[in-house]
Amino acid sequence: MDDRLNPFKIAQVQFDAAAEMLGLDPAMREVLRWPMREYKFTIPLKMDDGSVEVFHAYRVQYNDARGPNKGGLRWHPDETLDTVRALAAWMTWKCAVVDIPLGGGKGGVTCDPKKLSDREKERLARGWMRVMARELGEHRDVPAPDVYTTPQIMAWMMDEYEVITGRSHPGVITGKPLPLGGSQGRGDATARGGIFTVREACKLLGVDPKGTYAIQGFGNAGQYAALLHPEILGGGKLVAASDTSGAVYSADGLDPKALVDHKLKTGKLSGFPGAEKLDPDKILELEVDILYPSALENVITDENADKIKARIVCELANGPTTPEADTRLHLNGVHVIPDFLANAGGVTVSYFEQVQGTYNYYWSLEEVHRQLDARMTKAYDDVFKMAKAKDVHMRLAAYLVAVKRVAEAVRLRGWV
Ligand code: NAD
Repeated sequence: MDDRLNPFKIAQVQFDAAAEMLGLDPAMREVLRWPMREYKFTIPLKMDDGSVEVFHAYRVQYNDARGPNKGGLRWHPDETLDTVRALAAWMTWKCAVVDIPLGGGKGGVTCDPKKLSDREKERLARGWMRVMARELGEHRDVPAPDVYTTPQIMAWMMDEYEVITGRSHPGVITGKPLPLGGSQGRGDATARGGIFTVREACKLLGVDPKGTYAIQGFGNAGQYAALLHPEILGGGKLVAASDTSGAVYSADGLDPKALVDHKLKTGKLSGFPGAEKLDPDKILELEVDILYPSALENVITDENADKIKARIVCELANGPTTPEADTRLHLNGVHVIPDFLANAGGVTVSYFEQVQGTYNYYWSLEEVHRQLDARMTKAYDDVFKMAKAKDVHMRLAAYLVAVKRVAEAVRLRGWV
């Protein structure tokens, strides 16, 4: 892979810029620019037809100076050790930017879940947990859902962990179904948290929150963004959305609820009645007030950065923008709410799930929303103030806030 598109190299380039501005000494830089521990293993899986397939799997524990490692599990055909490393680094900065007492981790399996039956998925989930169980736990490392993993997969994993340890351990994993100790409000937390930051950005920048918006990627993050944007911002017109089946567009606006229903019923966005087809790459270049990249990495690059016309880019996806594109967007006056700030709502409610599980008392949905709003608003404010104080773009400002907090924990522990 071209190094400029390698997510881990990108994460290191982004970190280096912050380390330089913060004046971190060489040992601290070396500690923070690499994962503390990595696991790379294989899972032989008995398929429904009797054959055996071998899957490559990962867990990266990036840094636990501020608390147990925390981060999702991605099941994707393009998963590599370097994507997992990058995502684990971003989890570390994400937990620090919203100031929750957790470190960063990430895991995954290179596979195409669309080709697996439910029974095969269950065996894969249990197989992953059998290998990793000794290295996990509420005080060590706590996985959660990410791309193509679900509350059901978390439930199978928790069950396998409890079979292995012989004890109840609801805190070993978050994103669980409600009857198994999940939190109210976890399902839509990533999108909801991102929209809270958009609300704050609109206020500070004078952007009309009831203007137009477009969404690339229509899974968990994208679908909830479509539905919650008008609810939280008091209006707004969804003009385009895309998934792997293609992009749909309507200048008059798409009905978010009908679009989500269509996706749930047919499994794809294409063919939505009344919408025009759009070249999927063009969704990023539409003249909209707010753009939500909600799919995968490296979609805004030096090739299309100058064509981005959105006023605000709220990165619900991890790593959608390359460093070269970041600088261009900043120079062009596009306000980017960077991934590890914009999509921190998911891990924040995962943290609430751990807190509730620990004292075995569960909050109302209203309480979860109130606490999430407070955390996201404060985090956005911290980053915005840093960006103004240092005259840097929002991503670098978010790194400055987060890296400073993690470095302080490393120093206080006496590691460096
Ligand atoms: P998901 O599996 O539910 O959905 C992913 C969606 O992206 C699917 O609709 C898929 O069709 C679409 N997609 C994939 N490639 C695409 C492409 N090239 N163009 C357009 N659409 C494409 O995943 P998710 O949980 O919604 O996660 C999406 C992004 O948000 C990822 O980067 C993930 O790391 C990030 N994220 C998710 C959460 C969460 O709580 N779900 C939290 C933080 C960050």
